Amino acid sequence: MDNLWKKETARAEYVDIFASVQRSPLDGMLIELLKMQRTRKSNQQSTEWRSKGNELFGQGNWIEATNCYNKSLCYAEVGSENVALAYSNRSACLFHALILDEVLVDIELAKNANLPDRLIPKLEQRKKDTLNLMSMGERKEEFKPKLSYKADKNFPCMANVVAIKYNEEFGRHLVAKCDIPVGKTVLMEKDFLRFRDKPSVCYSCSQPCMNCMACPSCADVMFCSVDCMNNDQIHKLECSTFFPNRPLPDRFLIKTILFAITSFPDVNSLMQFVEDALLGKPETLPTSLNDPKSKYHFFFKLATSAPYIFGPSEAYKVYEVMMNLPKVTILFDSDRKKRFLMHLVMHHVLIHNTNSFGSEASTYVANVTSLINHSCAPNIISCFLRGNVIGVTGRPIRKGEQLFINYSKELDEMPSNERKAELKSRRGFDCKCEKCEPTRASIDPKLVTSDPCYKYVVKNQDNVQETAMIRKKCVEFLNKHGRSPWSLEIEMVFNVYANILGNIL
Ligand SMILES: [Zn+2]
Ligand SMILES: [Zn+2]
Ligand SMILES: [Zn+2]
Repeated sequence: MDNLWKKETARAEYVDIFASVQRSPLDGMLIELLKMQRTRKSNQQSTEWRSKGNELFGQGNWIEATNCYNKSLCYAEVGSENVALAYSNRSACLFHALILDEVLVDIELAKNANLPDRLIPKLEQRKKDTLNLMSMGERKEEFKPKLSYKADKNFPCMANVVAIKYNEEFGRHLVAKCDIPVGKTVLMEKDFLRFRDKPSVCYSCSQPCMNCMACPSCADVMFCSVDCMNNDQIHKLECSTFFPNRPLPDRFLIKTILFAITSFPDVNSLMQFVEDALLGKPETLPTSLNDPKSKYHFFFKLATSAPYIFGPSEAYKVYEVMMNLPKVTILFDSDRKKRFLMHLVMHHVLIHNTNSFGSEASTYVANVTSLINHSCAPNIISCFLRGNVIGVTGRPIRKGEQLFINYSKELDEMPSNERKAELKSRRGFDCKCEKCEPTRASIDPKLVTSDPCYKYVVKNQDNVQETAMIRKKCVEFLNKHGRSPWSLEIEMVFNVYANILGNIL
């Protein structure tokens, strides 16, 4: 992207970065159509979702029933009986799933939402039953992951055994400050921004929550608390608009741009910040991640090297949607500001291409985790849990060594040359990892396959009853053999361990 952040020579204005994008009168019509298709509150739809929920509830499918009641809650017109019914029915699902603290929260929410008198005795009974079960200790303990070491002072998401370094070859990257054995949680980072098409996740803080409440104006946005609802400055800019009709990467990008806008008092300050940040050296970083401006600074300086998944024409569509959000249009009221927004959108598209993780239903960027480079023979397992990206050591790491994760597990089985070509075209780098370009002679597989831990893992890997023991054996094996040249056997145990962590952590 040669002309990114280039200014016109005659004027102090950024060039029209979308000049080459074919525009057609249809684009405008499409936007109008999207606006018309905006999802709105509707008690009819709310009732339909509740009926679906009741059907699933009858079948004992608490999770799916909860999802339907959440939908019912989203569509329910503010102040209507449908709101209270959704909370009340959801509390019944939670009761059966033994998520007891949350049952009590939903009962209160239902009572405060004009619950019809006829339902009050039923709810009071449920409250009694819940308190009874609680007194008998019937509740599911929630597992809370934590770092295995003290947190770094400036970047608390990172254990103090890891440091951020910079060099020409790798850019910013993470390095071990001491020897770290297998099975240690060295990163636990709340994503910078995430977008998830799942119910039971707060739109604002992205924490999973069983007691979500619906945005009073939108039929597809939920919050975990009144605080999140009232303090979400980002959603205030897009509330009551048609943005949920856009596909997921667009919505994620829109959210990142809105984050940028809300992190500064006005557009001029944001423009000044960008000019300063572009002048800074690539290794300069904010010294903490504690306020929105530093978080955005960190995000803005992430690598932008990957080739297009999203190109200028997709970026233009995002820009166009932004300019149709009334509260954003007011802010970008001059050509100078509009041109700036074009570049900002393109810059975010490049960051997204290079650093985002996720699937069709979920996209996220985590600031510090994004600094970890790729290796097809990684030493860190990353998984997503309760709104956090977790990094656990999967091979012993020595002091001074770099941390690596595998960005593209799905390429594991490919022959080296094909995998390298694929990584180059998708991610824009030549992989020189020890699996792609081995520098050490491979060892006799028997040295590994004769290990009792290896034998145990091979034999039991699909036995869910033995998860705890398999996990123990994996750690023991990887601590012993994890520093040998990468081999199919090590990869197998590494992947078994990674799967267990993904499910258990
Ligand atoms: Zn929240
Ligand atoms: Zn809203
Ligand atoms: Zn590789």
